[in-house]
Amino acid sequence: MRFDAITLFPQMFETLSQFGVTRRAHERGLWQLRTWNPRDFTLDVHRTVDDRPFGGGPGMVLMAEPLACAVEAARADACDPGALPSVAPPWVICLSAAGRPLTDARVKQLAGEATRGRGLILVCGRYEGIDQRFIDALVDEEVSIGDFVLSGGEIAAMSLIDAVVRQLPGALKEESVRDESFGNGRLDAPQFTRPESWRGRSVPPVLLSGDHARIEQWRRDHSLERTRRVRPDLLQDDAQDNAEMHLPHEA
Ligand code: SAM
Repeated sequence: MRFDAITLFPQMFETLSQFGVTRRAHERGLWQLRTWNPRDFTLDVHRTVDDRPFGGGPGMVLMAEPLACAVEAARADACDPGALPSVAPPWVICLSAAGRPLTDARVKQLAGEATRGRGLILVCGRYEGIDQRFIDALVDEEVSIGDFVLSGGEIAAMSLIDAVVRQLPGALKEESVRDESFGNGRLDAPQFTRPESWRGRSVPPVLLSGDHARIEQWRRDHSLERTRRVRPDLLQDDAQDNAEMHLPHEA
């Protein structure tokens, strides 16, 4: 899969190919990233990418033209038959606190599109944001990674890349992805490892029993209990859940 990031801080993206799951997937050739700095598409000596907002107000706004030139260069490069393979034109996502919240379902759709050859161009804002005319003209989708404001779109774009890469076939063992939070509309059950007793706290005995059916049932029950407590919004059909649920204290 090919990602292109439009960013004033390209070095921030280097960590993705240096650590953990995304590093291994990168080494296996499952994804590639190119960065494009809007400053390289300016024409003045100061390489200006921002200006004051029309109508007044604090801070600066990223100008449309350097961003547009950067996206067009990334798109042309991705569609160049001599470049990295990509069949459909890349989808342009702008990271924005005002975008639609990113969900597990959307991440899986984007990974699915990627396996059919579609790349992603990720536009990272800074300062007070981006001239709306650029968004209207060149962006397919605005995406938020949560109801809070970051200083820039880079960490949001890197979060999106991480989440999509782990869904690419071959990035992780299939069961690791399947059993994760949101996979079945619920949060993951609590996890434990050695030692069996830590600072007076024991591992639930059922997890030491070797009885796979009971362990599976315990995990289902605790996944449901945690989801109810922390994210009741994820549970759409409560009646069905009630029928399924075995109380956690059974462990
Ligand atoms: N004035 C903007 C607002 O109130 O929505 C915030 C701008 S923020 C300081 C600068 C950039 O960070 C944004 O253009 C966007 O690219 C990125 N950003 C901030 N919060 C984000 C979030 N929750 N999700 C995705 N990107 C975010």
